[in-house]
Amino acid sequence: MKSSKHLKKLVIVLFLAALASLSIIAPVIFSDDSTHPISSVHLPTEFNATHAYEDIRTQLEFGYRVPGTIEHNACAEWIRSQLYAVTDEVVTHQFSLPGPQGEPIYCQNILGKLNTNKSNIIIIGAHWDSRAIAEKDTINTTQPIPGANDGGSGVAVTLELARVFYNHREEFNSQIWFLFLDAEDQGGGGIADWYWAEGAREFSSTIHDFFDNSTETFSFFLLLDMVGGHSLQFMDELYSNNDLQQAVFSEGRELGYLFQFPKNPTKRYITDDHIYFRPIMPTLDLIIDFVEGPWTHHHTHEDNLDNIDIDSLKVTGRTVESFMYTYHGKSNWKKNWTVWMIIGSISGVGIVTIVSVLIGIRWKKKRSLGT
Ligand SMILES: [Zn+2]
Repeated sequence: MKSSKHLKKLVIVLFLAALASLSIIAPVIFSDDSTHPISSVHLPTEFNATHAYEDIRTQLEFGYRVPGTIEHNACAEWIRSQLYAVTDEVVTHQFSLPGPQGEPIYCQNILGKLNTNKSNIIIIGAHWDSRAIAEKDTINTTQPIPGANDGGSGVAVTLELARVFYNHREEFNSQIWFLFLDAEDQGGGGIADWYWAEGAREFSSTIHDFFDNSTETFSFFLLLDMVGGHSLQFMDELYSNNDLQQAVFSEGRELGYLFQFPKNPTKRYITDDHIYFRPIMPTLDLIIDFVEGPWTHHHTHEDNLDNIDIDSLKVTGRTVESFMYTYHGKSNWKKNWTVWMIIGSISGVGIVTIVSVLIGIRWKKKRSLGT
């Protein structure tokens, strides 16, 4: 009699516990929209910052990647060679812009497509040209800059993400484009009469040539620019889509990168590659405050390997990688996790109910026997 009382109590406690666990996960089950994570659990990331750092070194070893030069062309070949190994398809978009004497300067946007069997396209990209002048330096202001951070870092992080995502390609429900845009950094007198983001303008105006608009749609464009300098701190770039920016910043902060993704970032409008994609899809320019921020080497000869911080490459790469798993993985890891939680909880409630009914019957029998 005493032990059945204890059992009854235990059964009630277990039953309530099972119900409580179900009530906790219920909101999780029914709130699966794409802008809010359904849990703050993060998959482990594999982004290798050493690979990215070496990729910056490689770009700098080609020399100045100024449109119209042999060095520029050699770097394009190298980017393609890296993409062939980790994408389904590599596309080169050639165009030309008039040089100082009106002669054509040949430029190229390079696109690597992963998961071409998926219809929802996410673009991750960077500009790969480097600036022809160093107007913010105190010396040699008409000479080109190394562009380790401005150009090189975005290319390096995008390439390493391509390698990582290739290994996880079956875990994504999206097609991913790795886009390397040319002729971004020659505005403001870099090359006479060129504007900023010429490559992005050319690509976005002919984007219909690169996808099938009867079956494919775009999810967003994530641009990485100056993501590898020391004292990395991203700003609130005001042309960017706010929801997308909030989601990426939250992801970074959840990974512990509180300085890099501050709660009150500097706000500024930046004319960058993403502006030409804004009429087509939500865009985010992940960029530092190069005007007043702590990295002071913008458009100077000091934008070199010495002012790159491998940790900044890691923070950027891992944040984007984690963001992609959280929001744009097949959601299968989360959905599966949720499904198993539901099954577990329901069977828990079921088992506890059956056991309590059985115990109740036994107890009743015993009582009727007068024990
Ligand atoms: Zn620049």
